[in-house]
Amino acid sequence: MLNLRGAKRVVILGGGTAGWYAALALRKIFSAAVEVRVIESSQIGIVGVGEGGLLNLQSALQALDINLDEFKGETNGTYKWGFSYERWRTGAEDDRYFHPFASAQGAASQWQRMGTYPLFSAMIHQGVELPDYLRGMQLIKRNASQDEARQAIEKNETDVINSFHFDSYKIAKYFKKLAMERNITHQDTIVEEVETDERGYVVALHTRDQEKIELDFVVDATGLSRKIIGKAVPSTWHSFREYLLLDRAIPYHMPHPLPNPYLVSRAIALSSGWMWQIPLMDRVGAGYVYSSKHISDEQAVQEVEKTLGYPIQPQRIIRFEPGCFAQIWVGNMLSVGLASGFVEPLEATSIGQMLETVRNFVRVLTTSQGVVADSTIREFNASNFMSWMEIRDFLRMHYDCPRRDTPFWKDVAATPLPEKYRALKETMQLRVPRLMDLEGYILHGRHGMFHIVNWLFVASGLGLIPPHAANVELMSLSKEEKQKIAEFLGWLQAKRAANA
Ligand SMILES: Cc1cc2nc3c(=O)[nH]c(=O)nc-3n(C[C@H](O)[C@H](O)[C@H](O)COP(=O)(O)OP(=O)(O)OC[C@H]3O[C@@H](n4cnc5c(N)ncnc54)[C@H](O)[C@@H]3O)c2cc1C
Repeated sequence: MLNLRGAKRVVILGGGTAGWYAALALRKIFSAAVEVRVIESSQIGIVGVGEGGLLNLQSALQALDINLDEFKGETNGTYKWGFSYERWRTGAEDDRYFHPFASAQGAASQWQRMGTYPLFSAMIHQGVELPDYLRGMQLIKRNASQDEARQAIEKNETDVINSFHFDSYKIAKYFKKLAMERNITHQDTIVEEVETDERGYVVALHTRDQEKIELDFVVDATGLSRKIIGKAVPSTWHSFREYLLLDRAIPYHMPHPLPNPYLVSRAIALSSGWMWQIPLMDRVGAGYVYSSKHISDEQAVQEVEKTLGYPIQPQRIIRFEPGCFAQIWVGNMLSVGLASGFVEPLEATSIGQMLETVRNFVRVLTTSQGVVADSTIREFNASNFMSWMEIRDFLRMHYDCPRRDTPFWKDVAATPLPEKYRALKETMQLRVPRLMDLEGYILHGRHGMFHIVNWLFVASGLGLIPPHAANVELMSLSKEEKQKIAEFLGWLQAKRAANA
């Protein structure tokens, strides 16, 4: 049992996006008598990548009383409406499909039948790109300006859910500024040793300046250096290496390739991985994430330069093993952000996962009134782990693509499928995936990272759902329902023609 009644100090070790967000969230739930302190090291710095949010970003900011316009302004942010996947199928320059943030919004998802969406099935059967039904999709496709996007949001003329791209340094700085205004203390030092007691609880941190900082609860937000988790506090590392091959990244900045900052993050497949391009107001945050088994660091830089047509200035090389810790809450320690795990940046899951972890932790701590049963902590960890499985499987599906033109893409094709995704794929040959298929990923108070609509956008974008599997569902509809489908397809065709 964890008893935080009478706690005097909560320490967050790490001042990146994860550390500062966690500090702001914890400040809200602990009384003013409890010190909430962030310890970070300006010498070590932050990872400095991770510039795109997910569907839960807006609500996570609002939960901390953060004004969205202020957030966008302070972080050099732009609207983010989803992802553009380029060259993942044929490798050609015009090969592209979209995964907009839609959840269950818009005309096609209002009609549900036994957890399926007949209008989606009809589009899959007809070979229509699924996101085309969304109001707002046209703004993405024609690279509309930020002002146009803002107007569409304000006038409720888009079904695409809004998130943000943001500068990773500015977001940490902004969260820090808020933290200073909200009675969070801050210390810039390097923690060298973590002291635990006979229960395995962290009782103090020892700094390079010989200071001993006693504490009642600690959050490990130390990024990829993972100062506490898996070291002073044991936890089981669960690698995804068997299913996801990428393990290295080279970030750099580049100018906007389009007249306006794109409303989506771009994921452009290359010979041995893919390039991310995240549009901010004044620049694009970019990088090549690749498999070190298939390309050297020098070759990776050369390939980027050849693709872009100009030299880049790589910031550094980031090495990582895709995977997560199975227990992120152990005794009086919670690990968040990169410290708790990381899978490559595809679908920008890292910050989204961190926000969901913090939300669920706050929920558990407040409803337990500071006294948390061991079984609750076990369930928290189980649900967090299942969320990582969802992320792993969703990402693995992205690589279930037709490219075979380089040794990397050939190896990707030969890489095993995780069991849950393999089973889903098997059923996809006979029917369209539905809400029920994802139920196993969601446990104990946690929200799923992706809605079935997100899975459908990617699966159909990659051509993983055969048209006949969709047709079987349509055949069992009544005459009136078939008429409804015909009217919808007519409306969609007219919409597409008007936008052509
Ligand atoms: C290549 C790449 C691309 C990514 N792209 C995305 C994306 O598009 N979207 C997304 O959501 N996420 C992305 N991420 C993840 C994202 O960068 C992180 O989730 C986010 O920045 C949070 O990082 P963090 O706070 O966990 O760690 P960091 O930013 O690394 O912060 C760690 C903190 O711990 C401190 N620290 C470490 N050790 C000590 C010590 N001993 N003593 C004192 N302080 C210490 C450091 O000083 C720093 O303040 C990406 C990550 C990588 C590697």
